Amino acid sequence: MSDVKHMKWWGWGVDGVAFHHENKPGFAPFVKKNLGLDLKKTKGEPPTFADIDVPSSRAAESFVLLLAGIVGDEHVETDDMSRVVHTFGKSIRDLIRVRTSAFPRAVDVVVYPANEAEVRLIVDAVVASDAVLIPFGGGSNIAGSLEPLAGEERTVVSLDLGRLNRVIELDADSSLARIQAGAQGPDLEAELNEAGWTLGHFPDSFTHSTVGGWVATRSSGMQSDKFGDIADIAKGLRVVRPGGVLVLRPLPSTSTGPSVREMILGSEGRLGVITEVTVQIHRIPAKREILAYLYPTWDAGLAAMREISESDATPSITRVSDGNETLFSFATSKKSKGFSALATKGLGVFLKAKGWDTEKMCLSFVGNEGGEELVATNQKIIAGIVKKHGGITVGKGPGVLYDQKKFDTPYIRDWFLDWGGSADVSETAAPWSKLPELYRNVIASANHAFDEIGVKGWIMAHLSHSYTSGACLYFTFAYLDTGDAITNYDVVKSAIQQAFIDAGGTLSHHHGVGLEHAPWMEQDISTEGVKVMRGLFGAVDPGRHFNPGKVL
Ligand code: FAD
Repeated sequence: MSDVKHMKWWGWGVDGVAFHHENKPGFAPFVKKNLGLDLKKTKGEPPTFADIDVPSSRAAESFVLLLAGIVGDEHVETDDMSRVVHTFGKSIRDLIRVRTSAFPRAVDVVVYPANEAEVRLIVDAVVASDAVLIPFGGGSNIAGSLEPLAGEERTVVSLDLGRLNRVIELDADSSLARIQAGAQGPDLEAELNEAGWTLGHFPDSFTHSTVGGWVATRSSGMQSDKFGDIADIAKGLRVVRPGGVLVLRPLPSTSTGPSVREMILGSEGRLGVITEVTVQIHRIPAKREILAYLYPTWDAGLAAMREISESDATPSITRVSDGNETLFSFATSKKSKGFSALATKGLGVFLKAKGWDTEKMCLSFVGNEGGEELVATNQKIIAGIVKKHGGITVGKGPGVLYDQKKFDTPYIRDWFLDWGGSADVSETAAPWSKLPELYRNVIASANHAFDEIGVKGWIMAHLSHSYTSGACLYFTFAYLDTGDAITNYDVVKSAIQQAFIDAGGTLSHHHGVGLEHAPWMEQDISTEGVKVMRGLFGAVDPGRHFNPGKVL
């Protein structure tokens, strides 16, 4: 049995960690009012594995032996639990399906190579045996990027990169680190920190995702405003392909085009197996501080974020929540801590006296890091912009709390599933000029979809990841399911995705395409764009051995 760590088969994160509402006084009234969920009723329980009906492995014994000959018996698995863990990511669609034994197809065999040489042998064996190979990083994707296609007749191999998990080399002169593709966020960051460096890439899924997965899905972390998206951070790559290794040396820039590096970014396993990524790293900043601000309205917050992006300030995090997400933040605050404490200290009274509608006010976090002087200068510029847009500076307390709790939020979704609810996220990016209307259209489309499926739905949003030309808007939606959960999800998710495209946004800012977003590819990159991409996939993988069907 492999000793590579995985998330729980039925939900997010590790066993023994879960969301609890009992210590959050505002939570029960919040969900009662906005979702119709009565927490006095009895909660359901997560499923047990014995209740799950898993399709048998179709891998021939001879093929399993061939793989075992490459990596050793103990690094090949065909048991049901391993195959279930490797069949899905962690979207709500995945979680609903895994809880209800709805497997369109499960992977047949999981293999854990120890090094690139073994990856090469596996890749060649897969092609020679006319099998299918799906690389597996942390299994955290939410775009249907891991599951085998329904109706796939061939043997499906999940190649888990978990044993390729080391930082291989640091080039301090160039601020570069060579990292094996299966290294997970906390492990690689700890190794870098020990040497005085940071990667600066912190997606919300940081605790359970890998550098190879980040590259393969074009990931973005919460400090992207300063450190860039993974597309900026990944400078060099090694990708195993049938019969060879595609090597892209880390170069500060190049005029060699079209960029093969860009083709690998977001390729979701379709162009081969990434074994190594050379990343841009940074000295750990002397100071890092996240301050909280409040705005009277969403429009004011949005306008301030735009102005910050245009200013001389260089923040690492720019984030503003809409009114609904701000209410949610208050509702998930612990007793007499953070936002609740603020409220009890009379902030609400003060803001009401200022004429604010506290149901509509918007909470913002802006993080700065670097030398003391830079942080102070940035904060001064930002405070001026906040004031100009009618906002107020709240201070450090909520920012510290946000920083501590930022990786805990995903656990709420599993808790909500136990209550019969569905919750998920969809995010996009669009030019600044289109964001106000995009926001309004998405909210209207989601509410229309809630009506269509007959539920009391909740949708909230925040802006994060600012660029000179635009930003990412990130929507979270939730409702108590009545009827078929997958059908309901399809209605709501499609409405939101279509609203993104119609309003000038992209199908996803950082979750990738997978199967989930593939229907919007043509609208996103045009018919000719799809032709170019199909040509690429068809030419480099004519036998459709590498994660077929994903992206396109
Ligand atoms: P996996 O899920 O294992 O794989 C994703 C895809 O990449 C698959 O197609 C797989 O075949 C391919 N792949 C993986 N490794 C390799 C490799 N070595 N070579 C070739 N192909 C490979 N994403 C963000 O960017 N930012 C966020 O803030 C963020 N927050 C999230 C929060 C939650 C709660 C969840 C569930 C997801 C979130 N995601 C986020 C999405 C997800 O974490 C990212 O897509 C992440 O980059 C996936 O990495 P992974 O290692 O888990 O890859």
